[in-house]
Amino acid sequence: MKKEVLSLHEAIYDPIADLSTWRAMPTRSIGHLDPFLFLNHHGPQKYGPNNNGLPFGPHPHRGFETLTFVLQGDITHKDSVTGESVIKAGGIQWMTAGSGLIHAEVSSDEFKRNGGMEEVIQIWMNLPAKFKMTPPKYTGLQKDSIPAIAFDEGKGVLHLTSGSYQGQQGPVESITNLFTATLELKSGGVFQDDLPAGSQVLLYVVNGQVQVNGASAREHQLVELSTAGTELSITATQDSQLVYCHGIPFEEPIVAHGPFVMNTHDEIRQAIMDYQSGKLGSMAL
Ligand code: MN
Repeated sequence: MKKEVLSLHEAIYDPIADLSTWRAMPTRSIGHLDPFLFLNHHGPQKYGPNNNGLPFGPHPHRGFETLTFVLQGDITHKDSVTGESVIKAGGIQWMTAGSGLIHAEVSSDEFKRNGGMEEVIQIWMNLPAKFKMTPPKYTGLQKDSIPAIAFDEGKGVLHLTSGSYQGQQGPVESITNLFTATLELKSGGVFQDDLPAGSQVLLYVVNGQVQVNGASAREHQLVELSTAGTELSITATQDSQLVYCHGIPFEEPIVAHGPFVMNTHDEIRQAIMDYQSGKLGSMAL
């Protein structure tokens, strides 16, 4: 049985400092797609020489995971637990905030000096109660560590971060068994998948235009699909790039407050106290 397209949600333009930002979730149209909480699309944006780079200085997180796809440019990730790494175009950063840490997502010195194009997608994936307080962990992977799986006679490529596709395994082991990937489709290219029963899909059109199980979707749209049904077919009507992830919903209460996502208000209060008393670590820039 095919998954049904329930709705198309427009990303809203909501710049952060001088950074172009399209937020696809949460918006007034869609709060979350359990277990996915958030999707921001930054750029594409051209930075000139001697720029200030990305505006994300030190800030805390607890209770979920972030996955950042670096489509163009670079990101220097620093945190209070694992140190520092620069990830370039085609790479990803996967951070399990778990019990909490402080991190910064900024541009490399080289990028700030020379400028260039920057385009980044960040998604937040929830953690269930049993993993909210798991130890923090960060994985940064460059493009050459991420399988690029061609399909439809080369008219499509799936860049697999976690989960499996056509017998290949993504390099990140998701503790909640999430499938996470980006898709590139040339016009006319067809991607087909048969998902585990009950899967929630996070499907976002970064650029281009596609038909998703017969419904048309374009740049800056989030496609909401039914959890019922297993079959998904995406046909590009223009050259397109998409974020394509799926997972089984946790069906737990979600209490989100800024950078903390927990199950209860008491746990949010605790997170704020722990942050203020330095239990999430500290970081000097
Ligand atoms: Mn962050």
